[in-house]
Amino acid sequence: AAKNAGRSRLRFFTRAMQKDAQMRLRLARDLRSALSKRQLHAFFQPIVDLKTNSIVKAEALLRWEHPTRGWISPTLFIPLAEETGLIHSIGDWILGEAVAYSKKWTKHLGRPFEISVNRSPVEFMVGSSDFAWRHIFADGGLDGCGISVEITEGVLLNASSHVAETLLQFRDAGIHVALDDFGTGYSSMSYLLNLHIDYLKIDQSFVRDIVNNRGSQTIAETMIVMAHRLGMKVIAEGVENQEQAAFLREASCDFGQGYLFERPLPATKFEELLESGPIAVLQEAASTPKPR
Ligand code: C2E
Ligand code: MG
Ligand code: MG
Ligand code: MG
Repeated sequence: AAKNAGRSRLRFFTRAMQKDAQMRLRLARDLRSALSKRQLHAFFQPIVDLKTNSIVKAEALLRWEHPTRGWISPTLFIPLAEETGLIHSIGDWILGEAVAYSKKWTKHLGRPFEISVNRSPVEFMVGSSDFAWRHIFADGGLDGCGISVEITEGVLLNASSHVAETLLQFRDAGIHVALDDFGTGYSSMSYLLNLHIDYLKIDQSFVRDIVNNRGSQTIAETMIVMAHRLGMKVIAEGVENQEQAAFLREASCDFGQGYLFERPLPATKFEELLESGPIAVLQEAASTPKPR
């Protein structure tokens, strides 16, 4: 009987895995036509100065509006795009969106407005066809817009000369480089010395319990001091409440990003937000003493 139970459990798992694989195949097929069918959207989330709550820049984040499944998270479809190679055309497309909106909002505000774009490790592979990025390099840099690129430590893991070379190309083109999800990767700290990185983004897992957890506090504070000493600015990700913002502000963190300020928004909504000045958040929590 036990043997049978084991077998049926095995069958169950196999069936579940099969279903999952089928779903991924179907999604991958749908993703192939998502761009041409205009189902992909660029959303924008503000990054604010923690001292003033004014919007200093934005991160572009992909959204997929599937005709039958509704909104699909990038954490689900980016891996599919990477596996199928679609990431190259998708990456090109969102860069184009970021350039266009940065130009528009730079003009609008009368000051440079930078938009950051995530770039997957796959896009760093030798021979990858990143036309939009190459176009910027070939044109000798940015024209009337500000772009930064967010990379993860995964890119640096196999730090081939190609990565260092590409990062130099970014710098020459006036594109700032941010190290995303900092602290969650496996790579060594030495790359911080050898590569040109402008922003360090503290991963939201450290921010989540920064108010109550001594360990997270210490790690965040140490990251901030280290980044500043190395000449980088710091962005905290996933700031959801006033207490977290207050702690980060007191720890001299430069910028914050998170639901406390605003969720990622469609371009039209983001534009309205830009026009309305610094983001108003509930003030009463700000005077709460730093919990230890
Ligand atoms: P990421 O680059 O680390 O982006 C930050 C993620 O945190 C976003 O998730 C954002 O919506 C979410 N977030 C922002 N504030 C908060 C908060 O206060 N609380 C919580 N819990 N989450 C918050 P999203 O939009 O689902 O994107 C997930 C990941 O997908 C991104 O992580 C990035 O790695 C990838 N991704 C998104 N757009 C692109 C893209 O255009 N290209 C590439 N290669 N990857 C992308
Ligand atoms: Mg990012
Ligand atoms: Mg991140
Ligand atoms: Mg991430």
